[in-house]
Amino acid sequence: MTQKLSPLYSQLPAIDRLLHEPRIALFVEQYGQTLVTATLRKMQEQARTNIRQHQTLPDWCDNWAAALGQQLEQRQILSLKPVFNLSGTVLHTNFGRALMAESAIEAVTQVMRSPVTLEYSLDGAGRGHRDRALANLLCELTGAEDACVVNNNAAAVLLLLATVASGKQVVVSRGELVEIGGAFRVPDVMVQAGCRLIEVGTTNRTHLKDYQQAINEETALLMKVHTSNYRIEGFTAEVSGRELAKLGVKSQIPTAIDLGSGSMIDMVQYGLPAEPMPQDYLNQGIDLVTFSGDKLLGGPQAGIILGKKQWIEAIQCHPLKRALRADKMTLAALEATLRLYQCPEQLCYQLPTLRLLTRSQQEMYDLAQQLLPQIQAYYGDQFIVRDEPCYSQIGSGSLPVDLLPGWALTFTAIDGQGRTLEQLAQHWRRLAKPVIGRISEGRLWLDLRCLEDGNALLQALLL
Ligand SMILES: *Cc1c(COP(=O)(O)O)cnc(C)c1O
Repeated sequence: MTQKLSPLYSQLPAIDRLLHEPRIALFVEQYGQTLVTATLRKMQEQARTNIRQHQTLPDWCDNWAAALGQQLEQRQILSLKPVFNLSGTVLHTNFGRALMAESAIEAVTQVMRSPVTLEYSLDGAGRGHRDRALANLLCELTGAEDACVVNNNAAAVLLLLATVASGKQVVVSRGELVEIGGAFRVPDVMVQAGCRLIEVGTTNRTHLKDYQQAINEETALLMKVHTSNYRIEGFTAEVSGRELAKLGVKSQIPTAIDLGSGSMIDMVQYGLPAEPMPQDYLNQGIDLVTFSGDKLLGGPQAGIILGKKQWIEAIQCHPLKRALRADKMTLAALEATLRLYQCPEQLCYQLPTLRLLTRSQQEMYDLAQQLLPQIQAYYGDQFIVRDEPCYSQIGSGSLPVDLLPGWALTFTAIDGQGRTLEQLAQHWRRLAKPVIGRISEGRLWLDLRCLEDGNALLQALLL
């Protein structure tokens, strides 16, 4: 049985005819023949599907040019969209972690536009490796002997392990077998690097003698991992960097620490929770430390390895280095970011991460007062809009229990008056520049810590 073809199919205009329609011809000028034709084909396909399923033409068939214009515009929107991060987590991995300092943004733009001395030395000393200049700067800032920069901290740990301990044993405390988000688990990385993980101690207590007893002729590395996103409390013991370094020297086995976030300055001076500093561990005699570029450091995604020259040279020569190396944009952004650390007095203003983390509650309170009247006037018939104190998180592996007092706008649904909180959150997620809040305790919270331009938020929300 052949089904009778719907007469609606014959009402679909031919692509050729559409292309000659004056308004569509203008789109061809603007977007090019290829894209316009492909989009029209897709629209025809959609129309056919609609006829097949619903025996009608879609509404937009009344006006192909207008529908085409919309589709073409939609296609111009990049999938990496700027958003307002009012989630209350400053270094949010899902939102790309640290925002760059202006000087880093300029540095990146410059190396994107022009050939650069990436692996070229102007004094005729021949080709250097691409992180040479950065390594010098890192050594100056931290007192390290040498440094290596790769794609991210996960890559740094992998490369370190593959270079120092492939085919051998690595001793790690049971209390430090960290899993951070996105499937980075210390035991799995060990396997990928070809190392055998030797777990010592117990979940809550590990002593120096546990490491000592695990050492044999197959041991290639004694390692610590900073338990960034959890804390073991109560009856606990861990081996300090200093003790581990001493044991390493005595038994002639290198030592390494994965710091995760790490911070090159003392966070406590800014009233923030203490975070381990790479230079402290190097001073204590640890051979190698690794940390991220886009966590507390406030730079681009990168992994930084600092430590003894002999090991860094071996790491630089490992074949995996090529696969894990950072690109010129990352290196440019990281160099500009690190230069800010040469003037620590300015850091709080110039480094967005530090600026947001150290923002005063009063400043956020004032911002809330400035925003509240207009937002209340706009949303007040459907929601109770208030300003309230709140707590923000640092994010990116910092302890979820270390909270920073801030200020927020909150929305509580008025029963029977229309939208629910989830509908409001979804509406905001669909804005041209989405506004991302957080629902908790029966309210939708807009944490103002990461909002620097109040007017921009008003423009987005009052539409
Ligand atoms: C964040 C983190 C990593 C991974 O760093 P990326 O830069 O995200 O690759 C590794 N180890 C620890 C302890 C971390 O906190």
